Amino acid sequence: MQCKVCDEDTVKVEEVQSSIKEPFGSKEYFTSIAEKCSNCGVDVDASPDKNIMEAHKRSQNTAVVNMIRDIKKIFKDDENLINVERALGLRPFAIINTWLDNPEKVTCSEYALLEIILLQPDIVYMVDNLERSCD
Ligand SMILES: [Zn+2]
Repeated sequence: MQCKVCDEDTVKVEEVQSSIKEPFGSKEYFTSIAEKCSNCGVDVDASPDKNIMEAHKRSQNTAVVNMIRDIKKIFKDDENLINVERALGLRPFAIINTWLDNPEKVTCSEYALLEIILLQPDIVYMVDNLERSCD
């Protein structure tokens, strides 16, 4: 294969096992493809985006399940978890439990919310104590 930098026919394609791990998630492996020129030393990452995106999503899905399990430990039981949802205005009730069964359906903002609740559980009480008015 010809090198785009030095024009020599010295590029070799190598498949490399790479991995990705979200915080709280599993380590997921994917195949990355490197195009390396033995003449000039250029090393191009030619991995299909699909491989890394799928591995990233798999790691995120396990992170959702792990974060919810840890959040449940913090708030002790499902009734308290519903109070968390009420305080944050999440609907429908028990939605966090439904994310356990379908972690792939959790949106980016829901994912961020789980991270915030897990890292700063007091935020729930702070939000719950905000003064609301209705005139
Ligand atoms: Zn080259």
